[in-house]
Amino acid sequence: MGNCFEGVSRPGDGRPKTPTQGFKVCVCGGAGGIGQPLCLLMALDPRVWELSVYDLTIAMVPAEGIGADLGHIERKCKVKAYSLDTTQKPVDHLQECLSGCSLVLVPAGVPSKGRSKSDLLKINANIAKSIVEACAKFCPDAIVGLIVNPMNSVVPAMAKLYEKAGLDPLKIIGITTLDVVRANKFVHEETGAPIETIRVPVVGGYSGTASGPSAVSLFSQDSVGKSIPEKRQIELRARVQDAGNEVVDAKKGKGSATLSMAYAASRFASAVLAGLSGVRTVETAFVKCSIHPGVDFFSSRVTFGPSGVEHVHPVGNLTAAEKSLLDEATKYLAEDIRDGLIYAQNAD
Ligand code: NAD
Repeated sequence: MGNCFEGVSRPGDGRPKTPTQGFKVCVCGGAGGIGQPLCLLMALDPRVWELSVYDLTIAMVPAEGIGADLGHIERKCKVKAYSLDTTQKPVDHLQECLSGCSLVLVPAGVPSKGRSKSDLLKINANIAKSIVEACAKFCPDAIVGLIVNPMNSVVPAMAKLYEKAGLDPLKIIGITTLDVVRANKFVHEETGAPIETIRVPVVGGYSGTASGPSAVSLFSQDSVGKSIPEKRQIELRARVQDAGNEVVDAKKGKGSATLSMAYAASRFASAVLAGLSGVRTVETAFVKCSIHPGVDFFSSRVTFGPSGVEHVHPVGNLTAAEKSLLDEATKYLAEDIRDGLIYAQNAD
C-alpha cells in the first residue's frame, strides 16, 4: 500500500466552518454490524444534514441498500451511499463521499475472534490507514472517530501518520464511550439510582482487545458509584473491562457488541457535533495527550469545541485501589501504544 499522505497540506486555521444547514457525516464500514445501527442513529441526529454510507462491494449488504433504506426515514438528513471495489484504492475514489465531512466515523475492520493481537493490528490498521489517507486528502479538517480494534494501538498509529503528514493528530480520536456507558448502566442496576444522575469516568485505554486490562472505572468520582462497597466496586470494574466478552458469549460467538457500540459512538458523535456548532460538550475519548505519566495517548474526559478537541481533563483524585489499577493499566497501554507507533514507523 503506497503512502498517500505525501503532499497533503496543513489545513488553514484548523477550524471547520459550521455549515448553516447542518453537518455532513460519513460512516466508513456503514454496512457492517456496528455500521448499520450507527448510520440509523446518525440519520436521526438533528445536527446531521448529509450522511455518507461507505463500505466495500463485498459487504454482506450493499451500502446502496442501507442508503436507500435510511433515505425513506422522514428526517431532513440526505443519505448517499458509496461502495468500493476492493481492487480500487479508497484514496482515489472517496472524493465525493468524504468532501465536506465534519465527522468521519470508522467501524470498519475485521473482528478479533481467533486472531492474535498482532495479526488483528496488521489487518485493521491497514484498513484504517486506507480510510485515514482518504480523509487526509478530502476532509483534513474533519474529526475521525475510530472504532477499530485494537484501539489502543490503531489510534496512536493513525495519529502518528497524520502528524507525519503535517496534519493535526488530535483529529484522530478513539471512541471509548462504550466503557463509560457500561459503567453507568452497571452502577444504575446495582443501586437503582436514576441513570441520568450517574457519570462514572473510565480512564486509561479501551477495554477491547488489549495487552491487558487497560480501562479503569473510577467509581470514587461518581456520587452514586462511590456508595457501592469497595469489594463490589472491584467486581463491577472487572465487569466493565470484560463486558465485550459477555456480549460475544451471549451471541454465541456469532457477533460482538454492535448495538451498544453504535449507541456509544452516536453519543460521541453528538458531543463532537455539538462542540463544532459552538456548544462546548464533554465526552470521554482516547486521544494524544500528556495528562498521564508514561503514555502519550490516554482516554479521559475531553471538552469538544468549535475546533474539535479543546481540553483533555486530568484524571483527578484516585483511591489507593484505583491508583494501583491505573499504574498496572498504564503498563499495558504503553505496550499497545508502542505497537501502534511501530506500525506507523514502518508504514510506507
Ligand atoms: P462487521 O464485520 O460486521 O463490519 C465491518 C464492516 O467494515 C464490513 O461491512 C466490511 O465490509 C467493512 N470494511 C472492511 N474493510 C473496509 C474498508 N477498507 N473500507 C470500508 N469498509 C470496510 O464488524 P463489526 O462488528 O461492525 O466491527 C467493526 C470493527 O469494530 C472491527 O474492527 C471490530 O474490531 C470493532 N469492534 C469494536 C468494538 C468495540 O467495543 N469497540 C466492538 C465490536 C467491534
